[in-house]
Amino acid sequence: MSGQVINGKELVSSIREEIKTEVAELTAAGHQPGLVVIIVGEDPASQVYVRNKAKACDDVGIYSEVHRLPENTTQQELIALIRLFNKDSRINGILVQSPLPKHIDEEAVVDEIDPAKDVDCFHPVNVGNLMIGKDGMKPCTPHGVIEILKRTGVEIAGKHAVVVGRSNIVGKPMAMLLLRENATVSIVHSRTQNMEEITKQADILVVAVGKAHLIKAHHVKPGAVVIDVGMNRPADGKLTGDVDFEAVKEVASAITPVPGCVGPMTITMLLRNTVDAARRAAHAGVHA
Ligand code: NAP
Repeated sequence: MSGQVINGKELVSSIREEIKTEVAELTAAGHQPGLVVIIVGEDPASQVYVRNKAKACDDVGIYSEVHRLPENTTQQELIALIRLFNKDSRINGILVQSPLPKHIDEEAVVDEIDPAKDVDCFHPVNVGNLMIGKDGMKPCTPHGVIEILKRTGVEIAGKHAVVVGRSNIVGKPMAMLLLRENATVSIVHSRTQNMEEITKQADILVVAVGKAHLIKAHHVKPGAVVIDVGMNRPADGKLTGDVDFEAVKEVASAITPVPGCVGPMTITMLLRNTVDAARRAAHAGVHA
């Protein structure tokens, strides 16, 4: 029997409705949330992501600005702009679209973003808070995965969750959030031996590698829930995940499609972080 294909569109639209209501309330109280997206250079995929983020803001009533800077922008110029937005009370979230041109040190740039406005949750302060389980910014993609699991009624506590991939953006924070939800967590990566032995134990398998169809049916325990974070564009140009969807859906109890689930959920969590940051800023203002 084929597993449930998780309906990302439905999940995303219901969360965006909730966010829209919150934005309307904050706006009515004089605290409209605001996001600035800064993009340096002409990377075509990044241009699409930035457009999608700005449109998502518009749809829920978040104020947004996109700053398109030329490829030859210096690190100092970029940092100067970030410092302006750190002080700008209309702006609650600052997102610097990656990748940045090679002459700019991405870490040095992220370090300049006010942690309270770091809606990507890349700043070391926010990464540290995540590690010690402190409330605050949550990284968008992993947070989106947790929302998908919870809203699909998947029990996380006590389950064995296996994360494939250990990047700072997805794999590592994903493991931390699953741990926070009381899963037993394993991480596998490119140096793991006999990966299949571990992925086959997973009740929840989250895959974030960047290799089309790496995970086949034989990697998956019958009845597992499979979340595919991967976004690959092979030669035929068709966006595809890290999981061999057609084969794995015959084994899994539930599976996310690519495209249409983790991607739009990630943008939704960016909206979530912006609204939460606006609420915290409003609260701090009241109590100043
Ligand atoms: P990344 O930084 O390149 O990390 C990939 C990870 O996969 C690394 O930890 C690597 O291990 C591991 N890996 C590589 N080959 C492997 C193999 N054969 N077996 C097991 N593990 C292997 O990538 P990322 O930024 O995490 O992104 C992963 C994927 O998610 C990409 O397709 C990306 O486009 C997608 N993504 C999607 C969203 C979204 O919104 N949907 C957001 C972010 C990323 P080592 O550490 O040992 O090298």
